[in-house]
Amino acid sequence: MTNTDVLILGAGPAGLTAGLYAVRAGAKTVIIESLAPGGSVNLTPDIENFPGFIKIGGAELGTKMLEQTESAGARVVYDEVEDIDFDKRTVKTAEATYKYNSLIIATGVSPRKLGLGNEEDFIGNGIHFCGLCDGQFYRGKDIVVVGGGNHAVEEVIYLSAIAKSVTIINNTDKFIAQEVLVNKIPAKAKVYHSATVTEIIADKKITGVKLKDGTKIACDGIFVAIGRVPNTNLFKDKLDLSRDGYLVVNNEMRTSNASVFAAGDVVQKQIRQVITACADGAIAATFATRK
Ligand SMILES: Cc1cc2nc3c(=O)[nH]c(=O)nc-3n(C[C@H](O)[C@H](O)[C@H](O)COP(=O)(O)OP(=O)(O)OC[C@H]3O[C@@H](n4cnc5c(N)ncnc54)[C@H](O)[C@@H]3O)c2cc1C
Repeated sequence: MTNTDVLILGAGPAGLTAGLYAVRAGAKTVIIESLAPGGSVNLTPDIENFPGFIKIGGAELGTKMLEQTESAGARVVYDEVEDIDFDKRTVKTAEATYKYNSLIIATGVSPRKLGLGNEEDFIGNGIHFCGLCDGQFYRGKDIVVVGGGNHAVEEVIYLSAIAKSVTIINNTDKFIAQEVLVNKIPAKAKVYHSATVTEIIADKKITGVKLKDGTKIACDGIFVAIGRVPNTNLFKDKLDLSRDGYLVVNNEMRTSNASVFAAGDVVQKQIRQVITACADGAIAATFATRK
């Protein structure tokens, strides 16, 4: 059993900032990360709205945050959480069991899927959620991007430089993305508004999509950017969640359990950005370490 003052789940901007504030408050701090440090910032090529950097690569910003938090004294471990006992204040992972005084949940969000029959068969091999990660497989090929918000439009801008053709399928009558991004959509991108993908056309590999009105669009790959779902499965029926599954917190970032805090995109709130995730992390750690 490893004892720690503060245990943080997730090493994205919220978890890493919480870790920095917790160690600076004198708390022994462990951060458990199930994938890669930096979290969702790794999915974006450039961040242009984080103060102090006119433009910085997402992965570079994540690495800088990790370095700062580790050098301050937090320990980051890469492991999978299996169970949490909120009464005993223990977290069991694949490798160890941790006992905490305060827990900070900073597990972020995951991409929403299309919800179509054969989708799971092609995830990572024809269906993707991150252009920066997987776009290189579609050099000179035809792709479809599904979505109409900031993320979808960012994907279109990035992937247009790689793919032979990019077709955007947006289910609203105009883009909901910021105008500054929409204005950057390259002329070669073909746009279908008020359109919904109802079928993934595939045999052994994806060959196209079918829309609700029957239109078929040939493509080699599909990039899905239709929103995100909170990573809160572990906390269902244990902590108060909003109707759409986000953690409900008070202005100290405290959840319905007094020793459990939450920060970042996983929290019920309006603005999900790096800067708001960092702010949440700072607040959560400050109250989590307050005697
Ligand atoms: C494509 C894209 C572009 C973006 N562009 C911008 C931008 O330009 N500017 C901006 O400000 N914001 C941008 N954002 C939003 C920004 O990335 C997020 O708001 C921010 O990363 C949220 O930080 P977080 O720490 O709450 O969550 P995340 O960054 O999602 O980190 C959560 C971490 O928790 C880990 N995790 C999940 N479950 C567990 C578990 N059970 N145990 C342990 N670890 C777990 C995950 O692996 C992940 O590393 C963008 C997001 C995307 C997807």
